[in-house]
Amino acid sequence: MLDEAKEILQEYFGYNDFRSGQNTIIEQVLEGKDTVAIMPTGGGKSICYQVPAMILPGITIVISPLISLMKDQVDALSNAGIPATFINSSISNSEMQERLQGIMSNEYKLLYIAPERLEAPSFTQMLNQITVSMIAIDEAHCISQWGHDFRPSYLLIKKFIESIKPKPVILALTATATLQVKDDICHLLDISLKNVVLTGFGRENLIFKVVKGQDRDLFIEEYIKKNSLQSGIVYAATRKEVDRIYLLLKKKGIQAGKYHAGMSEKDRNENQEQFLYDNIHVMVATSAFGMGINKSNVRYVLHYHIPRNMEAYYQEAGRAGRDGVDSECILMFAPGDVHIQKFLIDQSEMDDERKEHEYGKLRKMVSYCHTESCFQQYILEYFGEEGAIVCQKCGNCTDERTQVDVTKEAQMVLSCIKRMNERFGKTFITKVLTGSSDKKIRSFGFNKLSTYGIMKDRTQKEVNELIDFLTAEGYLRPTDGQFPVLLLTNQAVEVLRGESIVSRKERIQVKQIIEDNQ
Ligand code: ADP
Repeated sequence: MLDEAKEILQEYFGYNDFRSGQNTIIEQVLEGKDTVAIMPTGGGKSICYQVPAMILPGITIVISPLISLMKDQVDALSNAGIPATFINSSISNSEMQERLQGIMSNEYKLLYIAPERLEAPSFTQMLNQITVSMIAIDEAHCISQWGHDFRPSYLLIKKFIESIKPKPVILALTATATLQVKDDICHLLDISLKNVVLTGFGRENLIFKVVKGQDRDLFIEEYIKKNSLQSGIVYAATRKEVDRIYLLLKKKGIQAGKYHAGMSEKDRNENQEQFLYDNIHVMVATSAFGMGINKSNVRYVLHYHIPRNMEAYYQEAGRAGRDGVDSECILMFAPGDVHIQKFLIDQSEMDDERKEHEYGKLRKMVSYCHTESCFQQYILEYFGEEGAIVCQKCGNCTDERTQVDVTKEAQMVLSCIKRMNERFGKTFITKVLTGSSDKKIRSFGFNKLSTYGIMKDRTQKEVNELIDFLTAEGYLRPTDGQFPVLLLTNQAVEVLRGESIVSRKERIQVKQIIEDNQ
């Protein structure tokens, strides 16, 4: 069956081979196994249902929340000679009737619908008069309350599937690979965890970097000017910041567009079009920009602020280099921004359990900024891809600073945490290590510990950074919640026993970073 699939891939799509994972997914679907496909943005999810749709008898229904994208997808399929159509609120009633008739007379192999369509019983009744072979659920994370884009209408999908006889094969697709989301999709759609295919999260052409301790305005100005012929996106955390950065660039003679939810739809569309058609090269935007935008030649994505979690970061950064050409993804880290994200979580309407969960995810994002290991590998491990190898091109892989042995310092920190019974957070631990006269230290009797003041020749900032590093490298594990307690991991115990050493890149000079980036 895979041979037939490959023929279709070549004939209709003009590609020679399936990408890693695509063949496994297609094989499973053709064997009738309900499947969850987890692939990054740009990984090639569409092919995974478009090719089987051409092999299976009857029609394939694609459920997607991205109404604005349906027309493009259907147009592209029609141009390739694949009969497809869509039904959503954007078409007139008479057009809808015409399309429904076409569906009834088996004119189409693919039908795209928005999840809201499932609310109409007449629609499901109609489908029972034809053969529905497959249901593909795009952006399947929308079914999970743990995902970043929960949509209640997705909860209707299960009932919809059950109402169609005989039961079609299900393919749920998403780029979100956290454990909870994966479990939720499987649980809510009744798909075996064994049938989850997680693949291709590595994007070889993306070069990840983290920039710290810099004048960010100056950095983006210089970076954009240096890459003035390339397209790029600058993501900022708030609308206000987008407006400010947009004006700043304008003042510096850089033509940019902007995009955030506070603008009128007309302005947003205009800016987006200008960017898509390369009339302007830079887009300054909040995370509202990009969902479903398929601009292939984005050469860089700069994050002015830290995003709220790794999923959001990888999705936004992943908008770079969709054409496979090397592209840079640079995150500008400033510790203060973490508080903004924490504040946003705190102020949100999520319940306490959910907030704790979000703090935990933010912390993993912060650790990404502090890791000295390969960024790409960190990301892949975060998403649960096994056996990820170092990318050899990210900011850390190409960092030529020499490694210095910091085992002794690490032991000081770790033993202090142990002596404090692993019950406190970073700030307090730092105070004990640097010998602060804080009353709370006395009240716990920590001023009597042998590790009290053991690092008093360092600044609190330096000790904080060392703790961040030890957390990022897995020696310390913070508990969930807004005020995490740091726990020692097995790796830390080995260091305390003198069984392994800790090494770190020598400290970087701020001046040096600015020069390196010029
Ligand atoms: P996703 O939905 O996962 O974000 P798409 O399905 O839009 O990704 O695919 C991203 C790009 O990769 C598209 O331009 C698509 O045509 C291309 N693509 C997909 N599969 C292959 C393949 N096997 N060989 C080459 N290009 C592919």
